[in-house]
Amino acid sequence: MFINGEWLDGRPGFAVTNPATGQTIDTVPDCNEADIDAAIAAAHTAFATWRGTTAYHRAELLYRAWELMTERKRELAELMTREQGKPLKASLAEVGYGADFLLWFAEEAKRVYGQLVPSARENQRFMVRRDPVGVVGAITPWNYPISMITRKLGPALAAGCTVVLKPAESTPLCARAMFEIFEAAGFPKGVVNLLTVSDPSATGQAFCSDPRVRKLTFTGSTAVGRKLNAEAALHLKRVSMELGGHAPALVFPDADPVHAAKGLSLVKFLNMGQACISPNRIYVHEDHTEAFLGELTRRVARLRVGNGMEEGIGIGPLINEAAIEKIDAQVQDAVAQGAQVCHGGVRMSEGALAQGHFYAPTILSGVTPQMRIYREETFGPIAPVISYRDEDDLIALANDTEYGLAAYVYSDRLDTTMRAFEGLDFGIIGINDINPTSAAAPFGGMKASGMGREGAQEGIAEYLETKTAGMVV
Ligand code: NAP
Repeated sequence: MFINGEWLDGRPGFAVTNPATGQTIDTVPDCNEADIDAAIAAAHTAFATWRGTTAYHRAELLYRAWELMTERKRELAELMTREQGKPLKASLAEVGYGADFLLWFAEEAKRVYGQLVPSARENQRFMVRRDPVGVVGAITPWNYPISMITRKLGPALAAGCTVVLKPAESTPLCARAMFEIFEAAGFPKGVVNLLTVSDPSATGQAFCSDPRVRKLTFTGSTAVGRKLNAEAALHLKRVSMELGGHAPALVFPDADPVHAAKGLSLVKFLNMGQACISPNRIYVHEDHTEAFLGELTRRVARLRVGNGMEEGIGIGPLINEAAIEKIDAQVQDAVAQGAQVCHGGVRMSEGALAQGHFYAPTILSGVTPQMRIYREETFGPIAPVISYRDEDDLIALANDTEYGLAAYVYSDRLDTTMRAFEGLDFGIIGINDINPTSAAAPFGGMKASGMGREGAQEGIAEYLETKTAGMVV
């Protein structure tokens, strides 16, 4: 834990395990109610001076943190693979993506402008300024344990807010490594505070109800987001909610099914499918299903499963046993209702995989709307393929979900892609693109996938209040 510029170690804590080996990597202190209060108090006190610093100064510290992240890229990536499981190559990519948010918001800090607004009265002037919201309570998930932190702290700090972060219980070590960076970069005491915690409820409650916290920013499941949002509403807190997803991938009849299978094999199995924007329903025209499945199966069969620290591994472990049970239940349900397993469909526990949480990369065909996997977020390496007949139904089928985070479109026709872009009720759309994300582009969902955006100008606006003065001159 890092509170008011001090590390609080040597307390009773909880163990952090490597999901590939089941071994304990380290332990971290478990915070109590007094720690939560101390962290909020520190952030509240620090805000009084931090808000008055210049954007240039805040940018300088963010640049320094970005430099340190870049220098420590390999070390951070290795820690991430040991703690969270994704293959090292993917961890290196995440550290790069995470660092981008510090760089981008270091630059954006200097572009928080006010306005002079014309008045209807001759002797009146309107001035508008944008001020930091105040103390931010931030809660992050384990699946992207570094970039989900920088995507919140980059803009919050750039705006002049102070922060208390509660990372996921499974990945506190990545958070600790990031806070070592913030400390080394020179952020003043109390500006960034870290609470490691095994039971998140008291921290969540404090972030929602403590009057010193002005904003809650949450990334995680829709179920938890719904609960926190309801509590925060009672106290009229500002909130940003980055929640779950159920991304459709629409392969239109004019698209090359082999090219689409290549792209979707890459994005589906990234981070073992444990991504909020992972495709969860892949729609392929019935005339192209065979070619699509053939290519997808060939590619998936080449994916090596194992410890992500080893060279050439494409599929690491899932985060825990509960994740294995959930996806296996979805696969069993689909099979019982008539889906075919084209590849995988089993837990893997032979030899070196015995102590970890491994599941074979899986392809299901013949998936229908009655199956659980068609509606529930999977968060695992399962690619459900659905054959369709009529292209005109496709956008409505894709929109028939409570979620609205990401969608993917494969088509070579400009009119089709524009129709899909305009018609899909999703916040992020990849058009012949399996990586529609960047620090410079707004990221976020509609409907049960949340509210607010991270990244881009929208990302910093989430941490700003607008203040207007009408002045008679
Ligand atoms: P989760 O169970 O909702 O947990 C997310 C965070 O909330 C963790 O830090 C967790 O702490 C904490 N939490 C859980 N219950 C809480 C409570 N009552 N009060 C306060 N905090 C609480 O989600 P997850 O399994 O970590 O992450 C996977 C989910 O995140 C998926 O649904 C995925 O789609 C979503 N996600 C969304 C985005 C996006 O940008 N939209 C990005 C990444 C992930 P503990 O770890 O201690 O339980």
